[in-house]
Amino acid sequence: MAVILAEKRTENDGFFLFVIDQYFAGRQLLDRIPAAANDIVKLIDVDPHEPTTEQIDELRDEVLRNVGLPAGVVAIGGGSIMDIAKAVSLMFTNEGSSTLYQGLNLIKKPGIYHLGIPTISGTGAEVSMTAVLTGPEKKLGLKCDWTVFNQVILDPELIVSVPTDKWFYTGMDTYIHCIESEKGILNNAYSHAFAEQALKLCREIYLGDKSGQTEENDDKLMVASMMGGLSLTYSEVGICHALSYGLSKILHEKHCYANCLAFQHLEDYYEEGVKEFRQMVKQHNINLPKGISKNWSDDTITAMAQVAYNLPHMWNHAIGTNWKEKITVETIKDLYKRF
Ligand code: NAD
Ligand code: ZN
Repeated sequence: MAVILAEKRTENDGFFLFVIDQYFAGRQLLDRIPAAANDIVKLIDVDPHEPTTEQIDELRDEVLRNVGLPAGVVAIGGGSIMDIAKAVSLMFTNEGSSTLYQGLNLIKKPGIYHLGIPTISGTGAEVSMTAVLTGPEKKLGLKCDWTVFNQVILDPELIVSVPTDKWFYTGMDTYIHCIESEKGILNNAYSHAFAEQALKLCREIYLGDKSGQTEENDDKLMVASMMGGLSLTYSEVGICHALSYGLSKILHEKHCYANCLAFQHLEDYYEEGVKEFRQMVKQHNINLPKGISKNWSDDTITAMAQVAYNLPHMWNHAIGTNWKEKITVETIKDLYKRF
């Protein structure tokens, strides 16, 4: 990493901003970070909430005000940290609040150099062209060609410490990305090729005799995550992700866990995928709660359904261009009532 960064150090005000998952505070990895005296190292706790527009704006303003414009941003962590780095690298060069840029190709100028180093695998955020942010109005990514990392370092040793439940939920994000990318009108030869390989790897990692958190499977999971991310980039996600966004926006459930909560109930849309998913849940003794919708008020369900309905690109892909004839806020409410 030091070699890669040295080449960039002369750019802008000549310092790097490291955004690192708080999990690594006091751990060995921190001693290996090649931070120079004038670099900024920010340890961020990603557990309280997913990345927000406010958090990105504050980070950008604080760094610009106190130090200047970094040569680049280095992300060391999971999807949350990677999205923070991707978003802030764009916001260093684009004026105003990040809420202005939530959507496709709204960013006006390229961001600064950014390097991604994942420490938990599955979201595909290390390769995708979006940085997902929750804003006051919507959970939606800053999506454009400049969002993509300039460089990525994949080191499977970094994911060894991931606990089994998070290993499962985050890995299932890859699985669901592929199932959804495959089943919809935007699927194409390119997205299919990536999904096919990533699904094969997921089956090796999560099903069968050799499944589990082994050194070999960690290598495979890093590759699967990347391929799943590329598959959805060239196609689209579908119903599970739409429902998951509603859960995250209204009930603050984390993305990968929310996907798992939703996916188990979608057998009439993704029959084979849900069947296989249930086998994987069983094989790894994952406890996914059922019957949770009993505790939700009608207002909560309506609010989640409205968030999900307002993701037309996902419904269009999953159901077809005439999706509005088949899917209403009421249909989506009924889906949430299955939970
Ligand atoms: P995360 O970054 O939220 O981290 C999950 C948990 O794992 C945290 O508690 C973290 O501290 C811990 N962790 C990370 N690395 C660890 C390690 N090596 N050992 C032990 N614990 C570790 O997890 P995630 O699931 O990768 O990311 C979720 C976020 O990614 C959401 O905000 C979601 O919106 C976003 N996302 C983005 C994309 C994209 O394309 N940009 C795609 C899917 C999801
Ligand atoms: Zn996802």
